[in-house]
Amino acid sequence: MSARWSERQQAMLREMGVTLWLPPAPAEAALPEAATPEPVPAEAPVPSPAPAPAPPPVLMSRPAVVSAAPNPPSAPRPLAARPSGVAAMDWPALREAVAGCEACGLCRSRRNTVFGVGHQQAQWMIIGEAPGEQEDRQGEPFVGKAGQLLDNMLRAVGLTRAEAGPEQQVYIANVLKCRPPLNRNPEPQEVAQCEPFLKRQVELVAPKLILAMGRFAVQSILQTGEPIGRLRGRVHAYHGVPVVVTYHPAYLLRNPADKARSWDDLCLAREVLRGGATPA
Ligand code: SF4
Repeated sequence: MSARWSERQQAMLREMGVTLWLPPAPAEAALPEAATPEPVPAEAPVPSPAPAPAPPPVLMSRPAVVSAAPNPPSAPRPLAARPSGVAAMDWPALREAVAGCEACGLCRSRRNTVFGVGHQQAQWMIIGEAPGEQEDRQGEPFVGKAGQLLDNMLRAVGLTRAEAGPEQQVYIANVLKCRPPLNRNPEPQEVAQCEPFLKRQVELVAPKLILAMGRFAVQSILQTGEPIGRLRGRVHAYHGVPVVVTYHPAYLLRNPADKARSWDDLCLAREVLRGGATPA
């Protein structure tokens, strides 16, 4: 019999899902305790065969045995409808709606939603495309080296993302609030699902000017397939707000020769704010 596990203990272990392995009763019974050999040093000559001692009881948990069979891949979690009433939301409601949004597949791979930062009555609104890896980690738009370059560009025209009045402090948001996996281009239906959040942000900020940065952001908010090169140098409009387009800071880091063109765009934007240029 099992000297260590009574019938009652064995029953309890079985209830807990623990398998108790015991050697066959006759073999165990044939081995008196005195037959257990002394421990043999690893390098000592191997003694002549002696009756093997009975192995001690071994506990095996059920999951270890079950895990040999692979689990079938789980189905992706279903998407939910975008929260209703976005067009009438105030800031807290809008932020909460974005944080819990599961209206497109990007909710499945995001770490954080990236809502937007800055002065809620800013005169300048900066719109980028979508969060990258760092933005996804930190929940803030335009961080890392591209963010530093944006800060420098803003400083060059007397603007900042740090706390200041609505003339100096900008508001920054992206077209998409969740990161596309591996920074792939967003799908049209992802943009369509997310766009009402951006539109409401623009309505709440009511900026005097939007600076759209990067091909994807520009083409999304202007509803065009034209390249930035053909859209620069003119004033466009998004829901009645003047829009100036320019290159994304991440692009400028790779193509520093275009920084001069970007400076021209910032000067055009400043002129719009002074009333010297209007949408075409
Ligand atoms: S990208 Fe926009 S629409 Fe898609 S889950 Fe995120 S917040 Fe919702």
